[in-house]
Amino acid sequence: MKILTTISDVRNTLNADRAAGRSVGFVPTMGALHDGHASLVRASVPENDVTIVSIFVNPLQFAPGEDLEAYPRDLDTDAALCSAAGADYIFAPSVDEMYPEPIETTVSLTGVSEPLDGQSRPTHFSGVATVVTKLFSIMGSCSAYFGQKDFQQLAIIRKMSLDLSLDVRVVGCPIHRETDGLAMSSRNIYLTADERSDSVVLNQALAKAIAAIDAGETNPTVVQNLMIEHIDSAVTGELDYAEVVDARTLLTPEVLAGEVRALVAVQFGKARLIDNMGTTINA
Ligand code: AMP
Repeated sequence: MKILTTISDVRNTLNADRAAGRSVGFVPTMGALHDGHASLVRASVPENDVTIVSIFVNPLQFAPGEDLEAYPRDLDTDAALCSAAGADYIFAPSVDEMYPEPIETTVSLTGVSEPLDGQSRPTHFSGVATVVTKLFSIMGSCSAYFGQKDFQQLAIIRKMSLDLSLDVRVVGCPIHRETDGLAMSSRNIYLTADERSDSVVLNQALAKAIAAIDAGETNPTVVQNLMIEHIDSAVTGELDYAEVVDARTLLTPEVLAGEVRALVAVQFGKARLIDNMGTTINA
């Protein structure tokens, strides 16, 4: 497995692969990789001739006061995980390589970027959309693998790729969890022992919500209150949001119908955790 650090090396390498008829799979990440990230690599490997993982902690998507400086970084461990999962290349650029000058061009969306995390982290998705557009431009024609863990982010990447006719096939992959149900996240290492044991309330609240919907509940407020009540039972966490939305628009309908998604965000000390779960209501 090769580690590339410059944009021109990535372009030359992948252009040569495509010229030789090899298809490219791309897995964008911020590093501090875990088995959830590895599952994206494992999804790409059988579908593509070469797989490249980007590792870049993107300053644009952190607001002042968020954890940009503290965000965990360990390239050697990440490289070992990528190699074991079958990746061919890592792209690990410096901030200067990605942003040689202060950026004046950004990508931002209306619609799907507005509710949920768009309310809690108003500059976040523009930072994500901008860096992913830039990474797609660097990679060229490829299939790109994203986790449903960041469900709203996935919706944004799909919409942006469609709106801007980007030459990328966007693939959504299932959420990987610890055995007790906590969704794997690079930020889980911030949790204290008490916060870690309380953090299972996200998954449990979502499971309760989905069970209620599957049992016939179509009032989003009732389902939302079930989640809030359960999350409030944890001593250490502070609820940011718990919502049930239409899986396509990410807006809360008056009556739940069709494909729906329950999403939660909870602050545990230094760690802001998000999770989600979906179901389909058959008419
Ligand atoms: P991050 O490094 O947190 O920016 O995440 C990079 C990619 O990995 C995103 O597409 C995430 O949705 C995905 N990802 C993170 N955690 C998980 C998980 N537990 N299961 C599946 N995908 C994940």
